[in-house]
Amino acid sequence: MSDKSFISGWGGYPIEEAEQLAPASVRSFQESLKNQGPLIARGLGRSYGDSAIHSVIAQTKYLDHFLKLDTTNGTLKAEAGLSLREILRVIIKQGWFLPVTPGTSFVTLGGAIASDVHGKNHHLSGTFGEHVLSMTVLLGSGEVVTTSPFVLPDLFHATCGGMGLTGIILDATIKLIRISSSQISQKTIKSRSLEKSYEAFDENSEATYFVAWIDCLKTGSSLGRSVLLLGEHSERGDLALSFKKPITVPIHTPAFLLNKLSINTLNASYYAKAKNNRSKDVPLASFFYPLDAIGGWNKLYGKQGFIQYQFVLPNEGGLSNMREILKEITKSGSGSFLAVLKKFGPANKNLLSFPIKGYTLALDFKATSSNVSLVQRMDEIVKDSGGRVYLTKDAVMKESTFKATYTKWQEFESVREKYGAIGKFASSQSKRLGLA
Ligand SMILES: Cc1cc2nc3c(=O)[nH]c(=O)nc-3n(C[C@H](O)[C@H](O)[C@H](O)COP(=O)(O)OP(=O)(O)OC[C@H]3O[C@@H](n4cnc5c(N)ncnc54)[C@H](O)[C@@H]3O)c2cc1C
Repeated sequence: MSDKSFISGWGGYPIEEAEQLAPASVRSFQESLKNQGPLIARGLGRSYGDSAIHSVIAQTKYLDHFLKLDTTNGTLKAEAGLSLREILRVIIKQGWFLPVTPGTSFVTLGGAIASDVHGKNHHLSGTFGEHVLSMTVLLGSGEVVTTSPFVLPDLFHATCGGMGLTGIILDATIKLIRISSSQISQKTIKSRSLEKSYEAFDENSEATYFVAWIDCLKTGSSLGRSVLLLGEHSERGDLALSFKKPITVPIHTPAFLLNKLSINTLNASYYAKAKNNRSKDVPLASFFYPLDAIGGWNKLYGKQGFIQYQFVLPNEGGLSNMREILKEITKSGSGSFLAVLKKFGPANKNLLSFPIKGYTLALDFKATSSNVSLVQRMDEIVKDSGGRVYLTKDAVMKESTFKATYTKWQEFESVREKYGAIGKFASSQSKRLGLA
């Protein structure tokens, strides 16, 4: 099946014309690869920029089967196009959960591995790829191979976080974690400044899940004030899971509605409503996936779309560099409704994996030329601080910044060459970043 139309990532920027293939079997993936490469795999398109965009894309939507759920040992084998949402519907009621989950359940298993996604527990549990026991990958040659940390480890560590550029992940076996309730015991802490937020992260480093929502339009001594959420799997309640029917943003909202004034108002009311030192049990879906309750929220930024900008700064000098970036944002008058701050543990062996030990901040900006310049100015601060920008969110990073910050990119290219990926797999992002 094939169809040519305009596609984008979740940010709606950039938009490009693509031949969209939807192979229904491994054999048809092999045929597409032989006749229509280079191409790029695409899951649910929740990456924000251009990593799942190319003139030819291969959707994985028909690779959506459960293959084996071992409820004794807590492992799941499933096809790569299956969404985390469908996985959760099955595993939670059996008393199991994902060891790492991003902030949306509308992500495929293959997309979670290819971006080596992280959750609110990176400081303790690392990335999604660190819980993959093995996977099957379709190489550029058409050969299907199994890889794990012990079998073809170079391919494994290039594919976890490899943004689809080593091959198409067909299926994977992952480890699960035990839970006895689908409730999360959530504690809220309010902090008046960025320093206090960092202190709160340090004081609560034992918390399983930890995230802070920062008001990034505040200046002076309130710069970086935030609402911090800590979470533990509760022992109370049952294993019921309810994903509420999302309320839907029907059309693209005029972009002017999200301006400095409206964002300031939203941020102020969110901060005011939060109750300090308050604990309560909340459903797992609302703790992990609050945005999934609003279908099509990406349309709020208007037709021109938005850039989601996520970077990480290492601990050394991180606080003053973070302050410098926040000042850059407040100076510009741009910025998102509540930016998200998380603490990362150490980096892993995956060649293009994003996390390094330090703090990461994610924010949204309308896709305007002045915001592209702002993001590129922030890129310079991130680069000079020894940090990096998350590839699955990126839409504008320069090749020089990528190559200076993802220092294993040459090793990554060697693995791609060894496994016949060059000339077979490419995305608009990989071309922009100067990968072969
Ligand atoms: C609301 C929201 C919250 C988010 N929160 C987080 C978060 O907390 N942490 C985090 O890390 N990320 C987060 N993300 C980003 C998201 O988890 C990643 O972009 C993820 O990769 C999207 O999966 P997908 O199936 O939609 O993949 P796509 O967007 O379709 O593709 C993403 C990349 O994966 C590759 N890919 C997809 N499937 C395959 C496959 N079968 N084989 C090989 N390559 C493949 C694509 O080529 C592309 O490079 C969030 C996104 C949204 C919209």
